[in-house]
Amino acid sequence: AKNSDRNCYRFFSEEMNRQAADQILLANALKEAIRTDQLYLVYQPQVHAATGRLEGVEALARWTDPALGMISPGRFIPVAEETGQIEAIGLWSLRAACRQMAIWMRARIEIPVVSVNISALHFRNPDLPRLIGDILNASGIPPQRLTIELTESAMIENYEQTLVAAQAIRAMGIGLSMDDFGTGFSSLSNLANLPLNELKIDRSFMDGFEPTGKVHSVVTAIIRIGRSLGMTVVAEGVETQAQLDLLRQINCDVIQGYFFSRPLGVQDLEAWLHARPD
Ligand code: C2E
Ligand code: CA
Ligand code: CA
Ligand code: CA
Repeated sequence: AKNSDRNCYRFFSEEMNRQAADQILLANALKEAIRTDQLYLVYQPQVHAATGRLEGVEALARWTDPALGMISPGRFIPVAEETGQIEAIGLWSLRAACRQMAIWMRARIEIPVVSVNISALHFRNPDLPRLIGDILNASGIPPQRLTIELTESAMIENYEQTLVAAQAIRAMGIGLSMDDFGTGFSSLSNLANLPLNELKIDRSFMDGFEPTGKVHSVVTAIIRIGRSLGMTVVAEGVETQAQLDLLRQINCDVIQGYFFSRPLGVQDLEAWLHARPD
């Protein structure tokens, strides 16, 4: 038994070494990708549930490495958070999204709001509001046309700092949205205490979302809480007409998901807008 235990341990540690090596490889490639501007943004439409009007777009980061190929944000965002690169990605995303918004405004392409993902880790940096303000000013877009999505991959530590940053962001007139609500670390106390104007129901709730099931009860309750706190409630990961119909019945404000569109590059988004009836 002793021998096999040792073998088991050896396999386990080899696997761990391999994973650690992968992480380091990825972290280095990511640093290079940020430096050489290999990241880009795609934009997913958000549609008003009742009227079908475009409410805005969410900017999502994409990375194609020349050697490693396409790497999903589900892989590189956690690496960035672990290796101290998440702030660089957040600022890069903000700059790129605001710059694109300014281009759309000049071209009179009607995109009311752009939402950018900022990690909860970044909110601990007291410089964040000032940096956001600088990026906004440089782009010339009005603050009402930018929303920050607070993404929590870890418990909000330094709650005081997060609150101060959140208040400063809201005071500038920028929107603040709680992302992935109902899973992981996002909590009801954050909802009550942070100056949020939007709540996004995590897309995992769309699994098993049926007319009378338990998931339906939970989603109904989340929408009621969000709306009673004066927030716009967004459902993400909406893929079917049936999900859309149910969400309309329970007064969800805004819909995001493959049912309307996947995240799109700039040209594809403009074509998508063009093809829509007003
Ligand atoms: P998220 O912020 O929750 O973004 C929504 C994710 O759901 C996106 O995945 C989007 O492509 C996907 N999605 C949208 N509609 C549907 C649908 O109908 N069905 C399904 N199955 N999926 C849908 P993506 O682009 O792979 O991004 C994954 C996560 O990576 C994001 O989740 C966000 O947390 C993070 N992320 C992406 N870009 C950035 C960024 O610039 N900064 C930070 N901090 N995080 C980012
Ligand atoms: Ca998001
Ligand atoms: Ca989300
Ligand atoms: Ca998510």
